[in-house]
Amino acid sequence: MKTVLFCDFDGTISRRDVGYSIFHHFSNGKNDELLPDWKAGRISTRECLLREAEMVHASAEDIYRYVDQFELDRGFADFVARCDKSRVPLFITSDGLDFYIRRLLEKNDLAHLEFTSNIGRVQNGGIEISFPVENKSCRRCGTCKGERIQRFREEAGEPHRVIFVGDGYSDVCATREADIIFAKKDLARYCLANDISYLGYDTFFDVSLLLVQHGYLLDEE
Ligand SMILES: [Mg+2]
Ligand SMILES: [Zn+2]
Repeated sequence: MKTVLFCDFDGTISRRDVGYSIFHHFSNGKNDELLPDWKAGRISTRECLLREAEMVHASAEDIYRYVDQFELDRGFADFVARCDKSRVPLFITSDGLDFYIRRLLEKNDLAHLEFTSNIGRVQNGGIEISFPVENKSCRRCGTCKGERIQRFREEAGEPHRVIFVGDGYSDVCATREADIIFAKKDLARYCLANDISYLGYDTFFDVSLLLVQHGYLLDEE
C-alpha cells in the first residue's frame, strides 16, 4: 500500500505556534480571551480568526519582521528529503494563515511544498482573513483537515496509508481520518482522553526514525 503524509504547520513544522503568537503579540494578549471558547468548541475557528484579526493594527513591515523570527522543527528539512527519496508525498494542512506559512517555507528553501490553509492578507494596516475552501460538513474548522484527507482518498484512486503529524486542537478532525497519528501537546492529550491511539514525538527526527522502523520510509537521506 502506498503511504501519504499530512502535517500540521503551527507548532508541528514550526517550533512555536506562529498564528497564535502573531495575534497574541499584535493584540497585546487580548486574543487569549477567545481561546477557552475555541478550545471547548463554543466558537468556530472561522469566528475566532475573524475576531482575532480585528484586534490587529500593524504595518505589513512590522508583521513580517515579527514572522521572520520563527524557526522550523530542526528535523523537518531532513524529513522532507527522506520523504522525497521514498516517494512519499507530503502535504501541509494548516488551519492557520497562508502568508506566514509561505514566508517561512520560502526562508527555509521549502517553497515547493504544497499546503492548504486559510488566507490572511497583510494589508490596510492589519490582516484580512478569508476561507478559500468551503467545508462540506465540519462546522468547527476554518479549513478542515479531516475533509482534506477525505478528498485525497476520493481522488487517489487507490487505497493509501495516511499518516498525520500534529500537535493541537485544530488537528482533531484529522485524527478521525488518518491511519497512523503522531501527536504531541494538546493533540496527545486529546487522543489520550478520547482513546485514540497515537505515537508520541518531539521532533521530526523522531517521526522519521519510527517511520523507517516500520518500513514506511527508506533508511537513507
Ligand atoms: Mg498546530
Ligand atoms: Zn474539521
